[in-house]
Amino acid sequence: MRLIDGKQTATEIKKEIAIDVKAMVDAGAKQPHLAAILVGHDGGSETYVAFKIKDCEEVGFKSSLIRFEDDVTEEELLAKVDELNRDADVDGFIVQLPLPKQISEQKIIEAIDPRKDVDGFHPINVGRMVIGLPCFVSATPDGIVELLKRYHIETSGKDCVVVGRSNIVGRPMSVLMSQKEMNATVTVAHSRTKNLVELCANADILIAAIGSPEFVKGNMVKDGAVVIDVGTTRVKSDKTKSGFKLKGDVAFDEVAGKCSYITPVPGGVGPMTRVALLKNTLLAAKKEIYK
Ligand code: NAP
Repeated sequence: MRLIDGKQTATEIKKEIAIDVKAMVDAGAKQPHLAAILVGHDGGSETYVAFKIKDCEEVGFKSSLIRFEDDVTEEELLAKVDELNRDADVDGFIVQLPLPKQISEQKIIEAIDPRKDVDGFHPINVGRMVIGLPCFVSATPDGIVELLKRYHIETSGKDCVVVGRSNIVGRPMSVLMSQKEMNATVTVAHSRTKNLVELCANADILIAAIGSPEFVKGNMVKDGAVVIDVGTTRVKSDKTKSGFKLKGDVAFDEVAGKCSYITPVPGGVGPMTRVALLKNTLLAAKKEIYK
């Protein structure tokens, strides 16, 4: 079994991005600029946004954090989105999800200019991804594809099972794996799937994006399979300072011995998700997707 080290790979990619940014700025271009809108004080969202800002600093991007309280109205948020859409200094921006109940997430996503939608959630970017046009791909599936490529994992003709069909992970993941670039034969499984154990046990590549700690057991994994664990559930732990630790969707100890490659949690898909947002911001700054 070989461990797929997302942390190390993400560090390498960040160095590549930093070199690129320095060359751009040395040549007279402005610093790429990522803005983030954060609503409320949810602990998880605060942490994710803080990481995104730290990542920007590491690679030489400018970043801006725009905060609103939980009682912000949809109109106020839409006005800020509109302002960022028109701000020539901002190359890309994200609205950290989830949003409070009074706000339609879909309405906010659709208000973002697709050319600045570095999360890749706008229907135009999703649609372009589905038909294989240049687009911003959502960060987690993009990070996973990058890992598979950097580890030279053969995907062509392989049977790939994606468990989970969310708009941000499972569904785009399944589309990317079936594109001509990856050439896998893909099955998307979800909570209504029958014979999930048998289905997973026949997969050459198994991607678990469920959000259920240690859901994938040893009997669900074929010998020699590639296992990508997207799940990150915070569970209580008396072994960490924070009192929590992250658990994946895969029972790592049972599964690791059976597979050819596996991503750990933490240190697998998570760091690649973060780096994918930086990649998209750089593409936005260079106007490489929408010329
Ligand atoms: P989500 O929107 O809750 O989707 C979960 C999916 O799993 C749904 O499609 C659901 O099926 C399916 N599912 C739930 N129980 C199932 C079962 N018993 N059998 C088969 N399928 C089942 O979650 P998400 O946003 O995709 O995230 C999934 C996990 O990835 C979470 O742990 C999340 O924290 C993690 N995540 C990690 C990263 C990272 O960077 N590492 C990024 C994003 C998400 P239905 O559609 O039928 O309900």
